[in-house]
Amino acid sequence: MALNIVMLGPPGAGKGTQAARLAQRYGVPAVSTGDMLRDAVQAGTELGRRVKAVMERGDLVGDDLIVEIVRERLRRADTAKGVVLDGFPRTTAQAEALDAMADGLIVLDIAVPDDELVRRLSSRRICRDCGAVADPAVAARGAAAACARCGGGLVQRSDDREDVVRERLKVYQQRTRPLLDYYRQRPSFESIDGLQATDAVAETIARVVDRMVTARQGR
Ligand code: AMP
Repeated sequence: MALNIVMLGPPGAGKGTQAARLAQRYGVPAVSTGDMLRDAVQAGTELGRRVKAVMERGDLVGDDLIVEIVRERLRRADTAKGVVLDGFPRTTAQAEALDAMADGLIVLDIAVPDDELVRRLSSRRICRDCGAVADPAVAARGAAAACARCGGGLVQRSDDREDVVRERLKVYQQRTRPLLDYYRQRPSFESIDGLQATDAVAETIARVVDRMVTARQGR
């Protein structure tokens, strides 16, 4: 059975960082809908022009559009062994569409309280060139800081400004948090304490996923 993993959790919980680590550990691609949309905006494609304003105000793009984007992505051969989804699904309609597209989902929620999220997101910096999220200690160096991966300059994501962050958290509470109830009853759902250090979160997640994979093989 393919290893299809969903990373749930509010913006700033560390989904992207943990998705990349998990993807590497299990040799499957990490698919971030936010990264795909940001790439489209940066490239100035038709899709990018359609979603730019919605993203900048911290709202969600339409379910039909994002479901089609993910459906297309999951058709590609590199997802045959599985995928780590970061930022999708974000609404119940998206979760229902995903259930029809992929089986054997493992769903991981990274839980972090709101005040910590606002603090993390407003100090977060990403690379202007490759989009990688900078280590917070590096980002704190200010103008002199550079991307550890490619050496590019660091910038703030346009939707990480405090007013947009608050809107994104509101949208999360109203539209995405209900997904916890959608998935909670499944044996392959687990909520993880996202206040731990990054490495500790990664270790917890790896333990949980290994356990679920082993349980599955035993069936
Ligand atoms: P993220 O990088 O996951 O925080 O996503 C950045 C922005 O992209 C979000 O605030 C939304 O505007 C949009 N977006 C990403 N994924 C989705 C999704 N699954 N559904 C709707 N909008 C999305």
